[in-house]
Parts: sequence; C-alpha cells; structure tokens
Amino acid sequence: MKRVPFFQIPRETWVSGKKLLGKNLAAAVREEIRQRAEKLSQKPGLVTILVGEDPASMVYVASKEKAARAAGFDARVDRLLDSISETELLQKIQHYNEDSSVHGILVQLPLPSHMNSARVLQAIAVEKDADGFHHENMGRLLAGEDAVIACTPLGVMVMLRELGVDITGMHAVVLGRSNIVGKPMSVLLLEEGQCTVTTCHSRTRNLREHVSRADILVAAMGRRGVVDPEWIKEGAIVIDVGMHRTDEGLTGDLDLAAMESKVSFYTPVPGGVGPMTIAMLLYNTLRNAEKIQGA
Ligand code: NAP
Repeated sequence: MKRVPFFQIPRETWVSGKKLLGKNLAAAVREEIRQRAEKLSQKPGLVTILVGEDPASMVYVASKEKAARAAGFDARVDRLLDSISETELLQKIQHYNEDSSVHGILVQLPLPSHMNSARVLQAIAVEKDADGFHHENMGRLLAGEDAVIACTPLGVMVMLRELGVDITGMHAVVLGRSNIVGKPMSVLLLEEGQCTVTTCHSRTRNLREHVSRADILVAAMGRRGVVDPEWIKEGAIVIDVGMHRTDEGLTGDLDLAAMESKVSFYTPVPGGVGPMTIAMLLYNTLRNAEKIQGA
C-alpha cells in the first residue's frame, strides 16, 4: 500500500472486538500529524472557503478548523456571502494559491447553484489541493502516481492497513460510484489493496449476488434499507461510510446491529469512518506543506 500512510498505531487502542473505532484511530493519527507538523520550519496552513450559511456545512467547517488548530496548523476560514460571483471566488482561490503560508485549500461543498463546482475545484493549485478533488490528483490516483487522495476513501484504506489483515486478492464490493467516495475507494482497493473490486450503483442488477460475495463491503450510497443483513458473507469486513441524521441520532447506510454476528470487523456509525475523514484532511495538508517546504 505505497500511497496509503502507515502510522503503526497499536491495534488494541482502536479495535474493540469486531468494532473498528475510527474515532480512537483518528485521535492517534492526529497526534502523529501534530508531531510531524511541529518539525516544519513553517506551520502547515489550511484555508477553508465557506460560501453561504448552509447549517451542515457550517458545522463541518467548524470541526475541521478545530482539528487543524489542535494539530498546530495555521487554520483559517474564509466565510463568503452566497451572493459572491464565481469570478470573485476564483480570484480568492488565486490569492491563496499565491500565498506561501497556505499549503491546503478546501472549498466546502455544496456551492450555491449559480457556481460551477467542478470549475471552482480545478482553480485550486494541484499542490495545495487538500481534498483530492482536483482532476489532476484524481488522474494521478488512477495512474498509480503520487497524488493527493480523497480523504474519506483514504481514511478507509488507513483503517484497513492499520488493522493488519492481509486483504490481497480479496473480493471488495463498493456500493456507490461518486467522485468523492465510491470511485476513488474502488481504485484504492484495486491498486493499493490488491483486491478484486466490484463497484455497484443505483443501476446495478442483482445487488444481492454482489454483496453476498464481498470479503470487504464498503457502503457509500447515502441510502438506508438497501442491503439486507442476510446477504452479508460470513467473516466479511464491513465499512459503512453512509451518514444519516435521524431522530435517533447519526446512522449509516447499513443495519450494523443485525450484521454484527456474521462479520469479522465493522465500522460503527458514529465513530467509525467519519473521524478518519478529518484526520486525512490534516494528513493531506501536512504532506503538501512537507513537499512545498522540501521536508
Ligand atoms: P452520492 O454522490 O449521492 O453517491 C451515492 C452513490 O450511491 C451513487 O453512485 C449512487 O448510484 C449509489 N446508490 C444510490 N442508491 C443505490 C442503491 N440502491 N444501490 C446501489 N447504489 C446506490 O453520495 P456520496 O457523496 O458518495 O456519499 C455517500 C454517503 O456517504 C452519504 O451518506 C454521505 O453522507 C456519506 N459520506 C460520509 C463521509 C464521512 O466522512 N463519513 C464523507 C463523505 C460522504 P448512481 O451513481 O447510479 O446514482
């Protein structure tokens, strides 16, 4: 797993029975990142651009800022009115591209409907991309080159690597094909995990058949009730990326309680994949800073 960092966090600190406690792993990883950041001549600088006042985005941005500060980064949030034009936003990005104290630029999505998100994301300098959404980084990921990799799928790969189970040749099934989770997840499992990968989506026929052959199942659909717990293969590793705010709290795409007896490991929601995403955002920014500073 050349492009997946290995932090060597003791397994007993974050694997509890069958549960992969991403929250604990992420805390340990963030401490490693803090120590690496301390060694740099200049603090890693992360700028988050938030356009408008979407309540969920405001919560995400605040937690990213807090985590970045705790890791010793110079973390800034640039809050912009949603009446700002795309041209003005592109000028802002250009300004941060040229600012030598900035090593990571993140544009919080979704953007207001009058903006073209793809165009905005491509304006970020490739070497300052923190989310791994720049098309050049996505292309590099696919081509097997060094790349800034999307945080959520990278976080899942770090969990698998730290778990220490040899996944070579396993059949991995990814439910979802978005650019930010499903597709990079499939590429990582294929290229770094050396798995045989099946990617499923809303048009997939016989989902049951695919799921029942999964040694590793990654659910990233943003839909609940799609996978019947009966379908899960005995001993599978189940990763639930989904996030749903319900009256009972945060839940994933899967009925994990009903699957627990069958699986070998699974990520709970909350406290599984989610915290790893923020840890990987810090990792990407740290790596950018190390490269830019020649460390
Ligand atoms: P997205 O862009 O909506 O993509 C969802 C994918 O799931 C699509 O490819 C869709 O297929 C597929 N899908 C939908 N219904 C399906 C079904 N019945 N069977 C099989 N596939 C189906 O969502 P996303 O941005 O990738 O996010 C997915 C989930 O992960 C969401 O719940 C999101 O909140 C969560 N998430 C969590 C984190 C985290 O840090 N934990 C980070 C990012 C996202 P089509 O392409 O055919 O439409």
